[in-house]
Amino acid sequence: MESKTIPFKGLGEYYFRNMTEKFIKTQKALSLTRIDLADFVINPYRGCRFGCLYCYSRSNKNISVINKPWGSYVYIKQDFPEVLRKELSRIKKGRVLLGSTVEPFQPFEKKYRITEKVLEILKDHHVPVTILTRSVSIIDYLPLLEYSDENMIYFTYNSQSVSERFEKLIFPRKKRLEAILAIHKSRIKLVVYISPVFPLLTDIEEIFRELKGKATDIYLEAYNAKMGNWNDIKLKMTEDMIREYERIYSSQEHYDQYWSEFKKKTDKMNREARYQIKYFIYPYNSYYNE
Ligand code: SF4
Repeated sequence: MESKTIPFKGLGEYYFRNMTEKFIKTQKALSLTRIDLADFVINPYRGCRFGCLYCYSRSNKNISVINKPWGSYVYIKQDFPEVLRKELSRIKKGRVLLGSTVEPFQPFEKKYRITEKVLEILKDHHVPVTILTRSVSIIDYLPLLEYSDENMIYFTYNSQSVSERFEKLIFPRKKRLEAILAIHKSRIKLVVYISPVFPLLTDIEEIFRELKGKATDIYLEAYNAKMGNWNDIKLKMTEDMIREYERIYSSQEHYDQYWSEFKKKTDKMNREARYQIKYFIYPYNSYYNE
């Protein structure tokens, strides 16, 4: 069944305009993962209203076959909570990562509440969850997440120069900073995840300044140019920037040199700021040497 959505009051009709909604069956709720944040990944929706231009999800095998513009559709797995409950009673438990290929708190969650049901089930089974999100709606779910001291939120953030180019539909950065502060003050562990870090664009100094007093842990993940988004990204860059990206990503030597300098500069900036920093920089050979 495929239908055009009815505007939803309270969140801004804009988010629901010209979107295609479709209900799909859940084949499997828990998928084993090699991502070291968890044992299983769970994604209650497919497709994302926010439609960030850099989104890595488009390279996912289930998503890349959908022939629609990214950000124009959302597929809703209405039976997901039920399937999850059954699987959790059979499978040896571990940590779950919510939101590896989708934003679980995107605007459609206000309408369908699938993520909320999922969290209630995880709570019933005492399964710790790590959440990846860019959405300020997460703050409505903080009380629900208090069931385990092991629960964690990776709240993704970036500098103005990245937001204005590549992520126009996500909530304003001021609102996101307020959400970060609310999580920081809550009982849930917070990591501010700067992802992707774009060479020449992500302004770490600005981010450190903005996060002062709002976070202690900041993880930085280097931009991966092999995740199906480079053609869109290029459209928002000047010729000079494109040339510099092509240089950085053209060889292991240039790539390693760029990111090693980046780490040095960031560590130096952090001497004063004193955040707990971790870097996620993909090894060149595994990702770029095709
Ligand atoms: S919010 Fe996350 S899942 Fe949605 S488009 Fe942006 S990066 Fe992709």
